[in-house]
Amino acid sequence: MKNFHTHTARCHHATGNISDYSKAAIEKKMTHLGFSDHTPLPDNRWPEVRMPLCELSEYVSEIEEAQEKYNEIRIVKGAECEYAPEYLNFYKEELLGEYQFEYLVGGAHYFPFRGEWVNCYGADNSKRHLIAYSDYLITSIDCDLFAFIAHPDLFSRFYHKWDNEAIACSRAILDAASDKGRILEINGYGYRKGLVTTEEGLRRPYPSDSFWALASEYNVSVIINSDAHKPEDVDDFGEGFALAESLGLEIKELNIGKK
Ligand SMILES: [Zn+2]
Ligand SMILES: [Zn+2]
Repeated sequence: MKNFHTHTARCHHATGNISDYSKAAIEKKMTHLGFSDHTPLPDNRWPEVRMPLCELSEYVSEIEEAQEKYNEIRIVKGAECEYAPEYLNFYKEELLGEYQFEYLVGGAHYFPFRGEWVNCYGADNSKRHLIAYSDYLITSIDCDLFAFIAHPDLFSRFYHKWDNEAIACSRAILDAASDKGRILEINGYGYRKGLVTTEEGLRRPYPSDSFWALASEYNVSVIINSDAHKPEDVDDFGEGFALAESLGLEIKELNIGKK
């Protein structure tokens, strides 16, 4: 079992350190554990959900120590990154270059709208936010720095209907992923999160069954991750595998990581 989406207490909304997650993964006989904590940013933007830049070298050395110490599992050095043109140099030169990150995850938790960044957890149930989200997500998909795109269907948390607009935006996202050959993630954390209230009643925020059913019409492959924010959740993929299998989605093995 492999998981390439793992956070740590450094992001201020997870618990446990590198060693806690590594031990939990070993106990669960996992073969690969990729750390993808929310990257620090050179201008320290969105500080409430990420480590400050001054912690980057500690994060890296903690992972490298775990790679040395735990031989029974492949520990992989990564980070989850928001796409923005002003950060690309930092991702390339510092993370992938100087610090030799083995992979980066593209994750959209904010999107630009009328000159401001809107948090997906504060976005409203409106077409304008849905469209702004999908336009932005497509720029992340087009960026070749990312090994896969985390929870592309996060919009279903704030946009509640599966209507023509949701279908059009989903098709645009899936077209972009298919053109680029970009792997999309079915995110296990969505199964552990609180339900959202919609006009049709309570439902899971994401993964969106409708989005993934549509994905099965496209030439896109998927990765299933736990998006662990607690050590014990490191192998909790929710119904992600069952969902992919029931829809005949191609599950991609990521071959990254030393040893
Ligand atoms: Zn997080
Ligand atoms: Zn994440």
